[in-house]
Amino acid sequence: MSEPTTSAEVPALEPLVDRFGRVHRDLRISLTDRCSLRCTYCMPAEGVPWLKGNTMLSTDELVRIAGVAVARLGITEIRLTGGEPLLRPDVVDVVAKMAALPGPNGSPEVSVTTNALRLPALAAPLADAGLARVNISIDTLDRERFKELTRRDRLHDVLAGIAAADSVGFHPIKLNAVAMRDVNDDELVDLTRYAVDRGYEMRFIEQMPLDAGHVWSRVKMVTGPEILAALSEAFTLTPVPNRGSAPAERWYVDGGPATVGVIASVSAPFCGTCDRVRLTADGQLRSCLFARIESDLRTLLRDGADDDALEAAIRSCIAGKRAGHDIDDPTFLQPDRPMSAIGG
Ligand code: SAM
Ligand code: SF4
Repeated sequence: MSEPTTSAEVPALEPLVDRFGRVHRDLRISLTDRCSLRCTYCMPAEGVPWLKGNTMLSTDELVRIAGVAVARLGITEIRLTGGEPLLRPDVVDVVAKMAALPGPNGSPEVSVTTNALRLPALAAPLADAGLARVNISIDTLDRERFKELTRRDRLHDVLAGIAAADSVGFHPIKLNAVAMRDVNDDELVDLTRYAVDRGYEMRFIEQMPLDAGHVWSRVKMVTGPEILAALSEAFTLTPVPNRGSAPAERWYVDGGPATVGVIASVSAPFCGTCDRVRLTADGQLRSCLFARIESDLRTLLRDGADDDALEAAIRSCIAGKRAGHDIDDPTFLQPDRPMSAIGG
């Protein structure tokens, strides 16, 4: 069995490339499928059948897989997500270990996507542990609406979490909102102003068919062009060039430097430049949010696989990646796992 890889012994690196030539550099890791909110577009009020404790990867197992990805496969960015990643009791330790992983071009950039509820307590230790950035979800600035949308009266905690992230110097702070018809589509301008006034970047996401309740409907989805039209009534928007593999198309707001982004995954898919691969909290590797198959890295690991075998399994998963998500195809099937269990 080979020893875990260290940077000193890394040979010339073969990128993690699929059959369409897409090079994968971004690993999204779900730290837990559990959550402190119940956003209607994500989970039903009662939650979902949670993953069983013994199926969840330990921190050593998570770090082992991430280590192979960074040292041998050219992963340069790690995004921790969930569920709510900050609910994982040892999240600070996870960040410290991920941020110290040796890669051929240095350690990866580690960021987190969070609902911010635990940021007042954790922003400083996370920064000390090497967390580079935070993406925070906030769909409304209205307390009653927030309560309805997330089924929890916690808007004040989210706002405190954003302030905490700011005060420890995370930059840029990206704020994410899912745009929903007759729910928050009258707040797109206010949310953007809130972000711009504080130096954050607002990004609006098209709702995707990934909710546990299977209530998504294309008709209710607010599309990227609709979002843009609403913002254009209040702001002068100028396209930001060089999008690269980023999911968000961005615009300078009133000449910049502030920007606003739109993630139009459904109406304008960006699958052609996708560089993302996802690991679920129970150790299943997915080449796409919408993948119908998963590679079982947990069983491999627990059966004693060495780094060569882990590398081969990850490469094989990416080799099978489909060209696109095919939401528009009549044969499209929503994945069995909801977004909260895949890692958004
Ligand atoms: N709990 C954390 C949070 O809310 O930021 C991280 C996990 S959450 C699944 C990641 C992102 O996915 C959030 O920005 C959330 O708004 C988004 N999301 C969840 N369900 C979605 C859906 N059906 N369509 C589009 N975005 C969704
Ligand atoms: Fe929790 Fe995030 Fe899903 Fe909301 S979107 S229920 S915060 S996992």
